[in-house]
Amino acid sequence: MPRPARAVAACLLLQLVLPFAPTPSRRPQLRLRSESDGRLVAVKAKEADLRAQLAKIQREKADVLSNRTLEIGIVGFGRFGQFLATKFASYGHEIHGLSLSDRSGEARDCGAQGCGRLDSTEDVEMFFARKPDVVVLACSIVSFEETLVRIKPALEKHPDTLFVDVLSVKEHAKDALLKHLPSTTGVLCTHPMFGPESGRHGWEDLAFVYDKVRIPDDESDACERFLSLFESAGCRMVEMSCTQHDVYAANSQFLTHLVGRMLGGVGDLRSTPIDTKGFASILRVVETTCDDSFDLFSGLYRYNVHSKSTLLCLRKAMADIELRLISSELDGGKVDGEARGTLDYLDVRERVWNENGAEWSGRTP
Ligand code: NAP
Repeated sequence: MPRPARAVAACLLLQLVLPFAPTPSRRPQLRLRSESDGRLVAVKAKEADLRAQLAKIQREKADVLSNRTLEIGIVGFGRFGQFLATKFASYGHEIHGLSLSDRSGEARDCGAQGCGRLDSTEDVEMFFARKPDVVVLACSIVSFEETLVRIKPALEKHPDTLFVDVLSVKEHAKDALLKHLPSTTGVLCTHPMFGPESGRHGWEDLAFVYDKVRIPDDESDACERFLSLFESAGCRMVEMSCTQHDVYAANSQFLTHLVGRMLGGVGDLRSTPIDTKGFASILRVVETTCDDSFDLFSGLYRYNVHSKSTLLCLRKAMADIELRLISSELDGGKVDGEARGTLDYLDVRERVWNENGAEWSGRTP
């Protein structure tokens, strides 16, 4: 190729290639706004790394702890006691029960070693003589204190046993345990936020609330091992004070039970060929609450100081809605004598509620 032609060709080639050349000015820049931004990125990466390490260690710890067999005593071998026993026995732990009724058949079915009677002094003595690592109290809320008093003479001989309650109300459980147990005995207050219905297909991601109320050094191992039963089953572990639990539970758990019981009392609520998702949820709420004993429901009401206010607020909300509906009929000029009577009645109630509002308005912690 002659010289000038070669120069033109080189020029053309350069023009084609240059736009793709990696010049520093064209490269996308990762620009940090300030030095502190850079530090934040580094600290966040370090935090994520530590979190991952901690999660790994926790899984390893739960594995190690759950590999050692625990001797677990369950007082109250009813619906929930059996539900726990079945799970614990499936992990290979040794379970002994103590109940008011004869639950020996149910104990066998759950894989437990046996179940004595609460009203037999001999059975109660034998239950404690086995030196369980943990005693789980799973009797009804309403009989909790009476049960503690019943087993008190035997448990006082074993002050180094860890006591765990699973009551759905926590302040009452904590107060009763601190009142009746020796001052050196360990107290772990817990509430598995699920039951035989909601935990039927596993405990993965279900909340487990606990408060280490009093854990002496020599019982901390039993405490860790007991908690690891729930941790390794995949529960969401939530450490929370008993007081805070009761505030939340009145607005969530008691409200759910209350609405479920009310809907259950409506009558023939059943699935239809045209169910909406909303109605299916309603049926589920009825199913998961009405199967529980009335003792459990009344315990949620009587032993959580915040439940009364939840009930009153629900009644007021219902009256408000009724009032609005009837008022809208009145606006359309279509109100019969009966509706007018109801309206007057609700009006009076509304006024009384407003006058007493202060009594149940301060519901936040
Ligand atoms: P429950 O009706 O609350 O309790 C039944 C248990 O209480 C049975 O073991 C029963 O003994 C015992 N009991 C009843 N009256 C008694 C008395 N006077 N003296 C001694 N024991 C008495 O029903 P549950 O569902 O089994 O609940 C047990 C506990 O677990 C409750 O504290 C509840 O709050 C808690 N819990 C339940 C759920 C749930 O979904 N069900 C979830 C979390 C926590 P017998 O069996 O010998 O008759």
